[in-house]
Amino acid sequence: MKKLIHDLAFEEISDLMKEMGEPAYRAEQVWQALYRRFANSPDELTTLPKGLRQRLSEKFLFQPMEEAAVQISSDMYTRKYLFRLPDGNTIETVLMFYERRRSVCVSTQVGCAMGCPFCATGMGGLRRNLSAGEIVAQALYMARWLGSPDDGSAPVKKPTTLTHIVLMGMGEPMANYNNVWKALRILTDKRGFGLGARRITLSTVGIVPGIRKMAKEPLQVNLAVSLHAPTDRLRNKLVPINRRYPLSELMDAVREYIRLTNRRVTFEYALMRGINDDLAQADLLANLLSGMLAHVNLIPLNPVPGSPFQPSNPDRARAFLERLQKRGISATMRLRRGIDIEAGCGQLRRRVIEGMEISKH
Ligand code: SAH
Ligand code: SF4
Repeated sequence: MKKLIHDLAFEEISDLMKEMGEPAYRAEQVWQALYRRFANSPDELTTLPKGLRQRLSEKFLFQPMEEAAVQISSDMYTRKYLFRLPDGNTIETVLMFYERRRSVCVSTQVGCAMGCPFCATGMGGLRRNLSAGEIVAQALYMARWLGSPDDGSAPVKKPTTLTHIVLMGMGEPMANYNNVWKALRILTDKRGFGLGARRITLSTVGIVPGIRKMAKEPLQVNLAVSLHAPTDRLRNKLVPINRRYPLSELMDAVREYIRLTNRRVTFEYALMRGINDDLAQADLLANLLSGMLAHVNLIPLNPVPGSPFQPSNPDRARAFLERLQKRGISATMRLRRGIDIEAGCGQLRRRVIEGMEISKH
């Protein structure tokens, strides 16, 4: 099978050009075509001579994804794509318009091995890791769409740019660490796409060695931790990896991350009726986070068919939020159309969301 061109870092493209007997500046031309103009076929590498385009097309794939389905929310603010990869696997990518942001939620694995029982991705197990290029290509796909001429299909005027990336789609990014960070280095490379690292957020289920490693990365990527429970007893059930990395170790790693980076950490907490939404649990959560440079993002649970977990009722959710705030914890809740647009993707592959329609098969 052909290699995906987006799997190569700039230095690897440089080496390739050398091997192919091309002058050094060709690497920059390729890089700019891919990451500034979002070329997705060899024909679009218009600054290169035809012969070189031909040779590259024999070796490399320029577009790994095929649209298997697209769901567009009725207000046009959310576009969810199901992509088919060359090996037949499918992944989800979501483009979200939110405040002034144009944010993409990308997948990092096909499936996930972590088995959180409230998560549709977790229920299906892990199929495989995505390559760096497959992660990069999801962001480029959206950048390309946003950069296309205006046709009334977006809630803002096109052409425009992608402003944020969240790693909150299918998969656990820390379980595919090297490919994820290679993708992030490619997407932040100033010679090309050049997205600011601070506009990227990585969400983890709480893999402690990953958090410690990330704290030392030169790229200033934001960290979000999926907490969902304030005690080990409950978290062991909701987030099974907690048995391996219990709260005390997780919180130590997060404190170390904050100490080294001075960056605020977001804790995600999906409110589940009768499970983790008691006000006493809000107090325990406040105790756990008190004094930390932290923010709590309360997520109304998206119920997954076949799972017993239900979202909290809205009054309880509000009371939970207010209790945290009264205790001095920075916290917010997003309630747009029942989908948390920053953390609600990844579990959408298996169901159709209210207000969304399948516009293409
Ligand atoms: N594996 C990583 C990132 C992908 S999941 C992680 O777990 O953090 C992204 C976010 O969606 C996580 O906070 C996850 O807990 C949350 N999530 C998963 N299933 C959900 C559901 N049914 N409703 C609401 N949030 C969910
Ligand atoms: Fe995996 Fe995250 Fe889903 Fe848990 S919530 S199963 S870690 S994708």
